Amino acid sequence: MDSSRVILHLDLDAFFCAVEEIKDPGLRGKAFAVGGSPTGRGVVTSASYPARKQGIHSAMPMAKAVQLCPGLIVVSGDHRSYGHYSRKVMACLTALSPQIEQISIDEAFLDITELGPSPRAIGLQIQGTILEELDLPNSVGIAGNKLVAKIATDVGKLGSAGDRPPNAITVVPPGEEANFLAPLPVDMLWGVGPKTKGRLEGINIHTIGDLAAYSVIELSRTFGKHGYDLSRRAQGIDQRDIVKKRKTKSISNEQTFREDIGRKSDVLKSINKLAKKVAQRLGSKNLKGRTVQIKLRWSDFTTLTRQKTLPKTTNDADVLQRTASSLLDQVWEEGRLVRLVGVGMSNLDTEAQQLGLWDPEVKKDLQLQQALKDLRERFGEDAISQGIKNNK
Ligand SMILES: [Mg+2]
Repeated sequence: MDSSRVILHLDLDAFFCAVEEIKDPGLRGKAFAVGGSPTGRGVVTSASYPARKQGIHSAMPMAKAVQLCPGLIVVSGDHRSYGHYSRKVMACLTALSPQIEQISIDEAFLDITELGPSPRAIGLQIQGTILEELDLPNSVGIAGNKLVAKIATDVGKLGSAGDRPPNAITVVPPGEEANFLAPLPVDMLWGVGPKTKGRLEGINIHTIGDLAAYSVIELSRTFGKHGYDLSRRAQGIDQRDIVKKRKTKSISNEQTFREDIGRKSDVLKSINKLAKKVAQRLGSKNLKGRTVQIKLRWSDFTTLTRQKTLPKTTNDADVLQRTASSLLDQVWEEGRLVRLVGVGMSNLDTEAQQLGLWDPEVKKDLQLQQALKDLRERFGEDAISQGIKNNK
């Protein structure tokens, strides 16, 4: 294991509430909660620190929260703004270190090994930048790996129970990982839910230190591979790397014919199939693009490409097919044989990419697309296009 890594974990403090305070500074210092209506079955998604002090926490029914704290201000969520600020935070962090892994709307790991000799100074600088430039309080944990860095952040947050955001910074020096974890309750460890916690308590394991000291052979016997993993984690060992999200720049599909073909209608058939595939892949990634490209390789291996940029982004199969077929018209030479064709889409909409999976709207869209995919798999392609045609 490369013991010289320095990993920083950053977690925004009561993120949704912090954004609401930027939008309406009148909320600052007040007990308020973001979430559903107290008259319905709404729940608290985020509570301000003054509200937390009065016992309000997320996932609590809003009706109960209002009972507990009669002056509570209820703010309905604004996911567009949260997505907007989240992207700003991640862009700011990426500028500080390109070695970044976003793990949720308000959390990321950064590898800061190369940034300088003092992890604490770097941590303070990063924390300060997000606070000053974006007005978003945040807590930071720094350690030799992701596991311990994240727990360090949690420990820092727990340590400050005031009615202001913690803005905590917790640094675990190299080699101190196991000692840092030892006194903590075992369920602060990643992979220990209520069920595992209960079973561990049954064998007298209450702290992470208890777990680290327990025989790994016994743990493996009781919990299988999970027991082995837990033992390693309890000792502060975690070799996972920072996983950078690669942005998709283009999506394309191609087909090499078994025998060279000379009929334009056959080539067009293949292009339509490929265009449909590209459209489906774009759709499943929630992406749209503007530039359609076709590629054609003649039987003598000379290859050409043609592209067309559309007035607006799309992932519609019909538009892709029509554009690709008009491009084929431009390059078609009667009498020549074709060895390979390809269809691609580039100039992809990065906005949609950055929204990612955590955006509820995107998630809904993805769920819908998944449902469509399931339908296709169960009833075949035609069932759906038939249904769509019939509805027109
Ligand atoms: Mg947070």
